[in-house]
Amino acid sequence: MKDRVEQVALPNGYWIGETHYRDVELRMLTGFDEEFITESTSSTLPVTCITNLLTRCITRMEGVEEVTTDVVGRLTIGDREALLLHLRCLTKGNRMQCILNCPQADCNELMDVELSVSDLLQPIYQEPKPVYKDTVESDGQKFHVRFRLPTGIDQEAAARKASTDVQAGEELLLRRCVETVFDDKNNEVEWSPEILQDFPEKMARLDPQADLILKLACPICEEPFSTLFDTGAYLLQEITSTSDDLYYQIHLLALHYHWSESEILSMNISKRHRYLNLLLDSLSPEELA
Ligand SMILES: [Zn+2]
Repeated sequence: MKDRVEQVALPNGYWIGETHYRDVELRMLTGFDEEFITESTSSTLPVTCITNLLTRCITRMEGVEEVTTDVVGRLTIGDREALLLHLRCLTKGNRMQCILNCPQADCNELMDVELSVSDLLQPIYQEPKPVYKDTVESDGQKFHVRFRLPTGIDQEAAARKASTDVQAGEELLLRRCVETVFDDKNNEVEWSPEILQDFPEKMARLDPQADLILKLACPICEEPFSTLFDTGAYLLQEITSTSDDLYYQIHLLALHYHWSESEILSMNISKRHRYLNLLLDSLSPEELA
């Protein structure tokens, strides 16, 4: 039986020449992906890990001959977020458990929150554009701005900069996404980030899948609060937190089914867990030791 794949319509999509595409096909995560991520997270930026993980799991992109890290890096942040949510749902199901801290300093209670992928997926955008135009006023002067939405590659460059200077990271992201600024007399001008200070928010409104804000209330102190949900961080944490267990699972399956390590790692995660559960049900405590 072929492993399950899923067709995903990206909320924003991508352009090749003038043509707009949205359709991407994803496969489930395998043990090889788990091992790859576990081995690379300590030495690689999270945003780069996400690009690598998506490049492995995207089996087809409409209009694209070969899915490379460059192609995946050029997708918008919201599209990458949507792909991660679909990948999580395809591999481990719709429900996600997470533990959050109440932000009230005098409470600080830990709480279990159950999220569902389907609630976090945003509807596809009605009129996405490769480049947006906007006009801003500063000191009585008008400026005409052409900009695009931030991508994974922009995020990666900004994250490298932000590791030593957070503000410089934010400015770099803006500079990468703003293509041109013209004054009212149609002269291209050098611009300072102050005149475009609203732009990060404007970009966020155009790419609502990028920033998933959870609105919650603490079950203990009952204070409402909101927090950003980072699907990439969640998924990487979920994969790496069970990595010690991965080798025990390989050990058990190899011992009893006599499959090779590579046969076991190439199985998708849900299939591997199904065999493992069957095995655990049939073995005595002595045999599991
Ligand atoms: Zn609280």
